[in-house]
Amino acid sequence: MGKPIKPGAYERISQDTEGLALGVTRQREDLEALATQLGWDSPTHYVENDTSASKGKRRPVFESLKADFEAGEIDGILVYNFDRLTRRLDELVPFVKWVERTGCPVATCEGDDLLTANGRMVAHIKGAVAEQEARRISERTSRALLARARNGAKPSGRPPYGYDADMQIVPEEADRIRAWVKHILAGGSLGQLVRSLNAEGVPTPRGGRTWWPATVRSILRSPALTGQLDHTYRDPETGAKRTERFKGNWDPIITLAQHEALNAALSSNPGHGQHKPRKFLLSGLLTCGLCGASMYGATYNGGWMYRCRPQWGGCGRIGRSGPTVDALITLAVLTLFEEHQAKHGPIGSGGQPSQHDADAAIAETEARIERLRAGYATGHVDDADFFPTLRELRATLNTTKRKARTAEQDKARREAQARFTAADWNAASLEEKRSIVRAMLAQIVIKRSSPGRFDPHSIAFKGHGAKHFVTFDVVGPLPFRPGHETRVTFAKAA
Ligand SMILES: [Zn+2]
Repeated sequence: MGKPIKPGAYERISQDTEGLALGVTRQREDLEALATQLGWDSPTHYVENDTSASKGKRRPVFESLKADFEAGEIDGILVYNFDRLTRRLDELVPFVKWVERTGCPVATCEGDDLLTANGRMVAHIKGAVAEQEARRISERTSRALLARARNGAKPSGRPPYGYDADMQIVPEEADRIRAWVKHILAGGSLGQLVRSLNAEGVPTPRGGRTWWPATVRSILRSPALTGQLDHTYRDPETGAKRTERFKGNWDPIITLAQHEALNAALSSNPGHGQHKPRKFLLSGLLTCGLCGASMYGATYNGGWMYRCRPQWGGCGRIGRSGPTVDALITLAVLTLFEEHQAKHGPIGSGGQPSQHDADAAIAETEARIERLRAGYATGHVDDADFFPTLRELRATLNTTKRKARTAEQDKARREAQARFTAADWNAASLEEKRSIVRAMLAQIVIKRSSPGRFDPHSIAFKGHGAKHFVTFDVVGPLPFRPGHETRVTFAKAA
């Protein structure tokens, strides 16, 4: 076989942090030199970006290199060494077979020759050694992390909310966390917290503007708040994943007991945004007039009521007939809803973040990543700049995409509400009805009343931005009965 006149040089950028990484510029120089030394022509460069050869991921550039040889686009392959190709024996073996089958000339800077039986045996041995090395690196890395965690080192990555990068308490954030804990353990909902955070314009942990129930939930459930650290690692002997909890060397913001209580409250309380199907329209949306806790629906002897519940941190002293409260509040919501639509047009119109802006931001970040890649491929950007910048840009891209996604969902929800009319109410799902109630009413309070008779004045509600609570004047029977006229009017609450 003649000397290749159109060789392809395979260059892989690895993210190894143990000093094994070889800059693409140096790979390129060495491969050019190798081609000259072998009397091959100057190669076409195939650059595989950002892939760890030991994780067994697909490598599209490597695949196209082989395809190009089969298609006659190139007639030989240059590669720095077999480490650059793969660190897994099960990948190297098929490649050696492919070379045998196609007769593709392969040269490495380490003098391997895959076209002879002896060269192939050497390749196999090197592959086995490389695979062993990859295993040792991953073992060493997890051992190092484990040792670090055992020594009470700080959590890796972004510091947990409530702490700065040195794991010193940020007083303002810690106060906020303590107030949340109080609220949740008193039976309050994540939704209420999120609404007031968004209304006050408190920046999110990532410096954004929109809080979600999941954001607060994950902050509150973090063991870091108790001065502890969870570390998940792969057991070097068995290969099984294990999580261990360690004592950190930073000050706790909440107690272990509070942590346990929070975990219980945030996983069992139906008012905390779990995706459990709800049975009652106003569960978690009513406030106990005595203690301020959220009230939830509960059945009893064939009927049901909303109750302040001691097991969710309430006083347990107020309960009210569920069907009647639902009927009155529904009436209030639909009346306000129609008034609102007549006066202001559809709920939530205007002030939307534009989809166009989000698309532009995504495109801009993607373009920056491309420019960075191009700079790296041509050697203008070195490893020390490339990897951190790439990571940063990727994080930005993910955040932007996620924001665009949630803005989309928000828009869809608002549009659905805008199309909604009172006539659709009966056909709406419970969750749709609840979202209308939340859109119309800021607060519904159930006050204490004398036992026996349902007192409509004990139910008071307030619209968003309204100054006064409103209550009901009712003429006729309650609960509503077919064939009997019950007239309901609204009155400013006393
Ligand atoms: Zn109560």
